[in-house]
Amino acid sequence: MTLLDGRSLAQSIEKEIIIQTDLLQKEGIIPTLAVILVGTDPASCAYVNMKIKACERCGVACVAKKLKEEITQIELIPMIEELNADPEIDGILVQLPLSAHIDTKSILEAIDPQKDVDGFHPFNAGRTLAGIEAFVPATPLGVMSLLEHYGIDVAGKNVAIIGASNIVGKPLASLMLNAGATISVCHILTKDIKTFTQHADIVCVGVGKAGLIGAEMIQEGAIVVDIGINRLQDGRLVGDVDFESVSKKASFITPVPGGVGPMTIISLLQNTLISARKRKSKNQKY
Ligand code: NAD
Repeated sequence: MTLLDGRSLAQSIEKEIIIQTDLLQKEGIIPTLAVILVGTDPASCAYVNMKIKACERCGVACVAKKLKEEITQIELIPMIEELNADPEIDGILVQLPLSAHIDTKSILEAIDPQKDVDGFHPFNAGRTLAGIEAFVPATPLGVMSLLEHYGIDVAGKNVAIIGASNIVGKPLASLMLNAGATISVCHILTKDIKTFTQHADIVCVGVGKAGLIGAEMIQEGAIVVDIGINRLQDGRLVGDVDFESVSKKASFITPVPGGVGPMTIISLLQNTLISARKRKSKNQKY
């Protein structure tokens, strides 16, 4: 069994990003990411802090807007419009989930697709599905980079994706399909998930339920990508896969933590850098 070590891959990509941001800075471009956090949900605060720290390490400027829980949609949208219009901002990220009183779809649609480094705007989601150049959501992008790094070609493989959210399962299905895999996407209403996972060469799970995937659910030698993040009562962080038993049967498996999580953050920075480079080439036209 080989560990799909996202932490060390992310660290080596980070070194490359530092070189690239340095080059851009010498040409007068400081790659800049705006991060909007609404409220004080501990998990969201932790994710935002990780993103801010990663920006700091990489020489990416981060404009963090930490807003009160009660902020209304009518107040939030003009803030996004202001960031859209600001030529110094390359990427805009709104940390999800948002409170129930805010319509997430309207907020995501308010972001300029050219600055939508999270890839959640329908413009980018549609282009990703169509296989056209787009900002691809960081988690599925990170999964694809990790598989590629370990020489795993998904073309012709049977892939079971468990979890069908707009930020994980659906875009991952688009990327895998466009790369030539045959996809089954399972979700909360899927009857008997193991009929899909047991025939899969690659199982990707991003649900948020510890222990969902046990060894009996995968075939011998399967490649297992655990996207889930769950905090157990004893404080431990685990994925959705029963690592202990599944790792004995899998050929490749991601650890949690240290697998998809670091790849997600580094992919966000890669997207921000792509946007900053576009700003540079736009500036050179004039
Ligand atoms: P979500 O709640 O938006 O979607 C969950 C999906 O799982 C839905 O499609 C739902 O139908 C499905 N589901 C729920 N219970 C199920 C069950 N028992 N069997 C099968 N399917 C089930 O969540 P999300 O935002 O997509 O996040 C999913 C998980 O991935 C969470 O644990 C989250 O913390 C984690 N996550 C990790 C990263 C990372 O960087 N590693 C990034 C994003 C999300």
